[in-house]
Amino acid sequence: MSRRPLIAGNWKMFGRQADLGELEALSTAVADLGDVLDVAICPPATLLAAACRVAGPVRIGGQDCHPGADGPHTGDLSAAMLADAGARYCIVGHSERRRDHGDTDATVRAKAAAAAAAGLAPIICVGETLEERKDGRAIAVVESQLAQSIAEMADAATVIAYEPVWAIGTGLTPTPAEIGAMHAAVRARLVGLFGAAGAGMRVLYGGSVKPANAAEIFAVADVDGALVGAASLKAADFAAIIAAHPAAAVR
Ligand code: PEP
Repeated sequence: MSRRPLIAGNWKMFGRQADLGELEALSTAVADLGDVLDVAICPPATLLAAACRVAGPVRIGGQDCHPGADGPHTGDLSAAMLADAGARYCIVGHSERRRDHGDTDATVRAKAAAAAAAGLAPIICVGETLEERKDGRAIAVVESQLAQSIAEMADAATVIAYEPVWAIGTGLTPTPAEIGAMHAAVRARLVGLFGAAGAGMRVLYGGSVKPANAAEIFAVADVDGALVGAASLKAADFAAIIAAHPAAAVR
């Protein structure tokens, strides 16, 4: 099955109004990609609405959402609020949220369901620690996270991001063979759980993707794109990553 690649940037807790210029530059850089691949930026919530106004063909996403509907939850944002601001995606279960806010697989699953109910495509992050990889448990850990973090009613709009915790922000990446083995396992699990819908879900790789290694990562079978942190902050770097995707090259 052919899946349209998605290359998404996660700005994390970075970005001021002035940085919307980077988004405008990115929008110009990807303007003639048409619909060969999807490009998204997930800015901090303070910039979300303004980002939607300047994003052009770049889709905007939230970095997290509350699992419930609008209500008395000071400091939280519902998925419906993100959609109302113009978001199309919502990252859930990023390892930094799991680490800093104690999000469990069950919480992530509820957030993913809330995002989908609000019309957002959830980007569900899963990934093993270095210790788990060294113990030979990487695939088992990710398969378990996946089965428990993905909502029962998930459809093909759901996106999975395989992000080894030890590769995020470290400059380290698994080998292409390791990425390929994990993506094949994730794909098999998704098809096992959801059939045709699982075959249609995009599975991204995330963790220290840079212009210099993007082509090698995109060449791995079953990699449908990337979730990019640091290298998404500057339009030139992120555009270079996008340009390294074979789908962009055929334009
Ligand atoms: C991330 O935080 O999702 C990420 C992949 O970060 P980086 O690209 O900086 O490793």
